Amino acid sequence: MKKSAILAAMLGLVFAMGASVGSAHNTPIKAYWAASGTFGPFNIRGLIPALPADRARDITIPVPMWIIDHPKGLVVFDTGNNVALNSPGGCEKHWSPGQCGFLKPSQKRSDVIDMQLKKLGYSVDDVKVVVSSHSHLDHIGNIEMFPNALHILQKVELYQAWWPEKFQRGSNAHIMADYDGARDFNYLALDGDFDIYGDGAITVLNAPGHTLGNQSMRLKFADGHSIVIAQDALWMRENLEGFPAGLNFSVKTYFESADRLKAISDLEGAELFFGHDEQQWKEKGNRWYR
Ligand SMILES: [Zn+2]
Repeated sequence: MKKSAILAAMLGLVFAMGASVGSAHNTPIKAYWAASGTFGPFNIRGLIPALPADRARDITIPVPMWIIDHPKGLVVFDTGNNVALNSPGGCEKHWSPGQCGFLKPSQKRSDVIDMQLKKLGYSVDDVKVVVSSHSHLDHIGNIEMFPNALHILQKVELYQAWWPEKFQRGSNAHIMADYDGARDFNYLALDGDFDIYGDGAITVLNAPGHTLGNQSMRLKFADGHSIVIAQDALWMRENLEGFPAGLNFSVKTYFESADRLKAISDLEGAELFFGHDEQQWKEKGNRWYR
């Protein structure tokens, strides 16, 4: 072997070692799990009709939002229920009497995303990126508070938001007034996964089924461990046991996405966070992860 070849081989070894050491130095991010109030109490079988009757019980569930601090800019994952719910009679006016009666939203003004940001020392103007998991009322409710952010959704979900299928329209889960003023915002319309800052710290995961363009997220922290934030790809633990959510665009793709998130979580040893799990929220909500 020529001297130059030996040197190149040694350099390759050094670089390979450098790469493995380097992977221990991930971007220092931290993420806060907040809730735009709660839904309920109602019977769990109202949401998951396939659940056996002997597992029926009343639940009160969080309306989940995540605030993620990245050195390159603040990211919000879902913006909760619209702030209009906090004015007298606001729910019936902004949603519909039927939806308010079914979901029984309870939202204090301090629960709304702008106040949650303030509580943590940020303002809505600090938010660089807003990721909406999907266009249902409890996830996209306050995107109009972020006119200057980059908004990340799947391209098909934008179509879904503007013209939902009749069966989804019938459920009143899309509130046009949540986003009719956001039509000219700056959108990054995806067709698949996306690594937001290109460093593997915050990755949007395409997870359709609940809606046409539903998406989840994986966070990778400084020490290399990761978590998977399912949002409505998995409402709660029961969905992992083979009982699908009652409201889905496609049960087939719903389970394919559930399997994918479960596999990512198992392979990476990543904790899986559900969208609306009463018990998990009680144990792990309202706190930072880093
Ligand atoms: Zn939801």
